[in-house]
Amino acid sequence: MTDTRTKEKDLSLIEIEETITEVIKKCYTCGKCTSGCPMAEEMDFPPSTLVKRLSIGDIEKMLRSNTIWLCSSCQTCYSRCPFAVNIPHIIDLMKEYANKEDITEKEKATKLFHNIFLSNIKESGRIHELGLIGRWKVLSGKWFTDLKLGKKMFLKGKLSPFPEKIKARDEVKKFFDLSKKKRDK
Ligand code: SF4
Ligand code: SF4
Repeated sequence: MTDTRTKEKDLSLIEIEETITEVIKKCYTCGKCTSGCPMAEEMDFPPSTLVKRLSIGDIEKMLRSNTIWLCSSCQTCYSRCPFAVNIPHIIDLMKEYANKEDITEKEKATKLFHNIFLSNIKESGRIHELGLIGRWKVLSGKWFTDLKLGKKMFLKGKLSPFPEKIKARDEVKKFFDLSKKKRDK
């Protein structure tokens, strides 16, 4: 693979490549993952194509595709794969890397949502919908989208003004801190 950003590949990219090599060598391109993926039609490269392209070293293009941001981590591909190729894990690693290096070209709004979603969980221990929506609107500037839906949810009591307090909030924070430490190594 040609790394266009740095002459020396950074450690996390090497780690991703090693994981990818280890995981995808089991793939025999049956396509079962793609046929079950709910997002395949919207993706630049559906899961089986992603695996194929990664196997020939095309990681740069895959990191810049919309595939990694449209994947909802539903695990369907993983559960359908006869050889347990863990595509969601590969995509998670790629998402983290693209995020860290800020090389996202497509689905920037999805990336923003992803980051707000994670920081919302880090702060509250579980999703606080109103906080999530509020921050999303401020940071994305999309003030007028889904207003009707928001009103319906509010009237049905689905949008609590305050985050629910969970018992293990500190534990959840610890997971995030550990993961950050590992990423920054
Ligand atoms: S289901 Fe598994 S073996 Fe089949 S193409 Fe997808 S990753 Fe490869
Ligand atoms: S985990 Fe991602 S790639 Fe796999 S089936 Fe779900 S959306 Fe598709």
